[in-house]
Amino acid sequence: MVKSASYVPDIKRLKGATDLPLVRLISEVSRSKGRESYIIGGFVRDTLIGRIVKDIDVVTVGSGIELAKDIAKEMGHLEVHVFKNFGTAMIKKGDYELEFVGARKESYRSESRKPIVEDGTVQEDQERRDFTINALGISLNEDYGALVDPFNGLEDLRNGVIRTPLEPDRTYSDDPLRMMRAIRFATQLGFQIEEESFESIKRNAYRISIVSQERITDELNKIILCEVPSIGFKLLDECGLLDIIFPELIRLKGAETRLGIGHKDNFYHTLQVLDNICPHTDDLFLRWAAILHDIAKPATKRFYPETGWTFHGHEVKGARMVPGIFRKMKLPLDSKMKFVQQLVLLHLRPIALTKEEITDSAIRRLLFDAGDDLEALMTLCRADITSKNDHKVKRYLHNYELVLQKLAEVEEKDRLRNWQPPVTGEEIMTYFNLSPCREVGTIKNQIKEAIMDGEISNDREEALGLMKRLGKELGLAPK
Ligand code: ATP
Repeated sequence: MVKSASYVPDIKRLKGATDLPLVRLISEVSRSKGRESYIIGGFVRDTLIGRIVKDIDVVTVGSGIELAKDIAKEMGHLEVHVFKNFGTAMIKKGDYELEFVGARKESYRSESRKPIVEDGTVQEDQERRDFTINALGISLNEDYGALVDPFNGLEDLRNGVIRTPLEPDRTYSDDPLRMMRAIRFATQLGFQIEEESFESIKRNAYRISIVSQERITDELNKIILCEVPSIGFKLLDECGLLDIIFPELIRLKGAETRLGIGHKDNFYHTLQVLDNICPHTDDLFLRWAAILHDIAKPATKRFYPETGWTFHGHEVKGARMVPGIFRKMKLPLDSKMKFVQQLVLLHLRPIALTKEEITDSAIRRLLFDAGDDLEALMTLCRADITSKNDHKVKRYLHNYELVLQKLAEVEEKDRLRNWQPPVTGEEIMTYFNLSPCREVGTIKNQIKEAIMDGEISNDREEALGLMKRLGKELGLAPK
């Protein structure tokens, strides 16, 4: 993997940060109070590589909360949000979020992720950071603006290396989430995880089980939102973490051959679909749909000597698996989950249409079933066209274009998106003087079917005409 050219660090960029009036003010107040303070962490890393950041973490020797209060006063009595349990305080200033914390050292016990936290020196505070590139500091003291880099973080930033400040086994074992973070940064920045570090991740992968699911999913989502998420998934796989946090995905692995007939490896196919969709959407849940679209393939896989491999019904079973996976991952169980379910369920439909002649009726049904999710479905469907066989890809792409074209034509003609029945159940009941009963449902459904099949148009007058005819057939008389 080539390191992205845009992530070459430049020390000159620090000046932009230290020229910020807000950073100057923090330094002035800190010095006037005789404090020793630094900006440490992501802000320094991202400033050096030219990424824009609005979160500034200030570490001070002594109480971070006290310093925050002094600074907020100077800034015109801004509100200070105090998190007593963490010993931190936050001030919002324009777009910026300023976080203040006292320098601390941490010691861990093996059975818990919760460290014993004590006041410490700045060096000790930097040691407890996860990576050298995240331990970089900017001085806010006499030597204002100087880079404080005890672990050669700048060098690692230059070389695109993820390395722990202390011995990797200790860093990863202390807080196993750091293993996910290493892979997340490697994916986000296009960096390499230093070899010894990666070996240590392999050894410590099992310890991820002491980390809360929310933190794990948060990092996983950050990987999914990267430009090329497959980099992260392959690393997660290689070190053994994926098997623990997402075994359903691992089950997609493998390309079996029987009687000389093979099928594709659905793990790598899924990762390719995920990468394919990324340039077209930043929607986390559309990306999740790409990850889950074939999730039930292992469970539905069958081999027939005459026809080969089938994964019949994997879209239905896959859609049913979505809530369980979302629950386990602590992802939201709301409309976002429904959206993913819907896409998994429908993902074969657009291309399946082209197996026969593309009738207006089939197109209408797709429009009706997909509703507002149609664009997302078509984006997923386009990303799903992967094959080593160029001829196949060409054919599928051609079919895909045909479906798009047809969808546009039918949509224009029939206005079926977010379709509302032109005659409501209420109206049917009033017209025939009925209370709720099966006949009402039958008439409503037959009107819908007639519109889908193009027997009548999506029009109120035609629908009313059909309602009267159907009523007559059912022996109903108008009131
Ligand atoms: P991003 O903003 O992209 O999520 P970040 O690392 O800049 O990444 P935070 O996750 O808020 O932002 O972390 C801020 C800093 O705190 C990091 O740069 C790092 O120094 C430190 N840090 C965060 N999490 C850990 C951890 N689990 N172990 C050690 N240090 C950490």
